[in-house]
Amino acid sequence: MNKTTIPYKIYLDEQEMPKQWYNVRADMKKKPAPLLNPATLQPMTVEDLEAVFCTELAKQELDDTTAYFDIPEEIRNFYKMYRPSPLVRAYCLEEKLGTPAHIYYKFEGNNTSGSHKLNSAIAQAYYAKKQGLKGVTTETGAGQWGTALSMACSYFDLDCQVYMVKCSYEQKPFRREVMRTYGATVTPSPSMTTEIGRKINAEFPGTTGSLGCAISEAVEAETKQEGYRYVLGSVLAQVLLHQSVIGLETKTALDKYGVKADVIIGCAGGGSNLGGLISPFVGEMLRGENDYQIIAVEPASCPSLTRGKYAYDFCDTGKVTPLAKMYTLGSEFIPSANHAGGLRYHGMSSIVSELYDQGLLEARSVEQTEVFKAAEQFARVEGILPAPESSHAIKVAIDEALRCKETGEEKNIVFGLTGTGYFDMVAYQKYNDGEMGDYIPTDEELAKSLADLPQT
Ligand SMILES: *Cc1c(COP(=O)(O)O)cnc(C)c1O
Repeated sequence: MNKTTIPYKIYLDEQEMPKQWYNVRADMKKKPAPLLNPATLQPMTVEDLEAVFCTELAKQELDDTTAYFDIPEEIRNFYKMYRPSPLVRAYCLEEKLGTPAHIYYKFEGNNTSGSHKLNSAIAQAYYAKKQGLKGVTTETGAGQWGTALSMACSYFDLDCQVYMVKCSYEQKPFRREVMRTYGATVTPSPSMTTEIGRKINAEFPGTTGSLGCAISEAVEAETKQEGYRYVLGSVLAQVLLHQSVIGLETKTALDKYGVKADVIIGCAGGGSNLGGLISPFVGEMLRGENDYQIIAVEPASCPSLTRGKYAYDFCDTGKVTPLAKMYTLGSEFIPSANHAGGLRYHGMSSIVSELYDQGLLEARSVEQTEVFKAAEQFARVEGILPAPESSHAIKVAIDEALRCKETGEEKNIVFGLTGTGYFDMVAYQKYNDGEMGDYIPTDEELAKSLADLPQT
């Protein structure tokens, strides 16, 4: 097919939007390892998880056999505010690169929160409301999750308390104000308002924080307030389930034009956008129906898949969460203050980890100056100013397209453009001023944070 038959943007009709989420675990013969209770080392039960999560979400978390979950109508109605999201054919980028490859991206930045995180935020807020809760606590790294959650909570009239990683809190005052505009309370983490925050501040004076610290604080805040539950924007199986809406729409759009993806690329922080994007495709691989090359892209400064260990670990720095088997750098790993806040997480979704371990996807790590170079190149031809996180996927999509230029292959490359970078202008400024550095942890540093993985 050519330009006249494939539009720049493939928009589905509202009626073509998925009515069910897809749970890729149902098609995995070898399932992701269960979450373990750190005290007993027994698999977590719904009863255990209910103390922290909404009951319905606890059930979704532990269900690895149900392939499809109905999306409640209230959530589908909210989705219609900003979905279906377009699948864009990057004609301008293809032309600029002079590649025979066909490049497509699924653009999830078309909502006020500026990222895919709203897809799960609204689901989690809905189940909290349905359970009659007063509010939720959470952490946010770069601020996208907190923003998405504050929007979702205001829609359902729930209180929203956000612990924001300190370096982002300082770098991104405007994110903070968007959250407050939607009614959330925002506290920089590590803070002095929780026991674990005070402990981390005492141990690591002047720390700029990490997602792992902020998770510990948000969980502590939840346990100390009646009528609250904790919600998490990534990593968990329930989040990947909600994010499958990305992959399902992508697949419907490609199928509509008879396009078969060859390479599918996503950035990986906790693994939710990647997991959501690839789920329906991996499902086909698992059922032996189709084959795809899938690439997870992570920052060289926080390389959990490419340099981490596949082992049980805590999901947070304060060691208050259940243990998850995942590719991890150690829960005490605090990445350097790079500019892709959403990718600064020491671990990785257990589902993505298990798929990676089974060889269904490959992983690459990239340095941030190269990522910003790709972001700039993309912005100048495609118009969208991408989030630094998303730009990791752009970088590898460009690399793959240039490889096709050498080999002459007309591959279909599909990548997830998870969000926009309007709140990342401090990072862009550093890049524009030539002041951006790259930091790659040494083997010694990684060995140190991996030394005290919990014994299971
Ligand atoms: C949070 C975020 C990510 C990374 O999170 P995942 O759970 O790995 O998807 C990527 N891109 C953007 C724009 C984000 O906000």
